[in-house]
Amino acid sequence: MEVKCKHCRKSLFDIKCIPLLTSHSEVKNISTDVGCDTDGPESCSYMSDEKLPKWVEHAINQESWTKGRLHCPNCNNRIGSFNFVNELRCNCNKFITPPVKITNSKVDVSF
Ligand SMILES: [Zn+2]
Ligand SMILES: [Zn+2]
Repeated sequence: MEVKCKHCRKSLFDIKCIPLLTSHSEVKNISTDVGCDTDGPESCSYMSDEKLPKWVEHAINQESWTKGRLHCPNCNNRIGSFNFVNELRCNCNKFITPPVKITNSKVDVSF
């Protein structure tokens, strides 16, 4: 039940404590669950700003809760981004996506 960096294989967080969300802010049960129909090359997972791993909170604090990139705390590989400035919509345009985004191809998720 954890998310690992694909590059260095270190654990990033536990999805039992920090659930991964779809673009519709629903808790994911399988890694391919994205919320709406999307065949985009980069499918993503999201996190709510209410429950974040310490290292993510730290990265966001450094940017004063505006926007920026998320890097693996171990190997510094880019694994996602965050945006508290603009509200971004999902592909079907019906939902505002959660502010913290993880690129699925950069991590390994074991459910
Ligand atoms: Zn890493
Ligand atoms: Zn959608």
